[in-house]
Amino acid sequence: MKERDIAPGTTFLAGAGLNLFAVLDCAALPESTTAPMLASGVPLADYRRLVLLGHGGRRLWAALQKWGVKTTDPVDHYSLTLTRQFIRDYLGDPPVCWLYPQTDYLAPLQQLGALAGWSHSSPLGLGIHPEYGVWFAYRAAFLTTAELPLRVEPERPSPCATCTNKPCITTCPVEAVQIDRFDVDGCARYRLRPQSPCADRCLARLACPFFPEHRYTLAQMQYHYRHSLGTLRAWYGETETEQPGDYSPRDKDNQPV
Ligand code: SF4
Ligand code: SF4
Repeated sequence: MKERDIAPGTTFLAGAGLNLFAVLDCAALPESTTAPMLASGVPLADYRRLVLLGHGGRRLWAALQKWGVKTTDPVDHYSLTLTRQFIRDYLGDPPVCWLYPQTDYLAPLQQLGALAGWSHSSPLGLGIHPEYGVWFAYRAAFLTTAELPLRVEPERPSPCATCTNKPCITTCPVEAVQIDRFDVDGCARYRLRPQSPCADRCLARLACPFFPEHRYTLAQMQYHYRHSLGTLRAWYGETETEQPGDYSPRDKDNQPV
């Protein structure tokens, strides 16, 4: 299959908001990436390509609102439905093995994102994309027997390299964000506090000055953060956390138009 053969399919995906698309060679993945996958039972040797899909910015959320929220996990449902359609209608329905989301396999997404040229590490513990900043995410990953043309983004510098003030570090109220370390536990416990201003958003992430035009809308941000808060609650066994409302005038300033 040639690049021009999959161009209509990637255009279809991009129009649906799945505007990050990478194809990696299974046989060329580094051992540090394959080890956790193989340990979780991924049948890597049976497939030729690993396809990674993501969204950058706000388009996916806007497309999802038009498509309709049909399940309790609408972003995954939407992403899987559109990706299945892409595989069927644009790739000729080859055999695939789903890696993410909603599988028991372990896909090291941040490592795969770095190999795809999407992601540098940042003090926030999130990847940062050279074009979308901290406003991107992984939406689906699968293996396929189809010999798709390889595709990664060109190597570009991290925005963090030119960010002199690093407001993500100074904004976090509990100093969870450090230049060389992200305190996952400290962040989680602060988010779980009653009336926490971080229950449905990350103030430090919002303080990142790069690519504000791609910053999630408040509704999109609240969806993702409330979802992760539920996971944290289950993990930490917390039950007393309240759902947040609006907390401060900052919210209005941070809410993109
Ligand atoms: S505020 Fe600066 S250092 Fe922090 S994530 Fe954004 S670009 Fe990187
Ligand atoms: S969610 Fe809050 S506590 Fe966690 S890193 Fe962001 S600002 Fe800090």
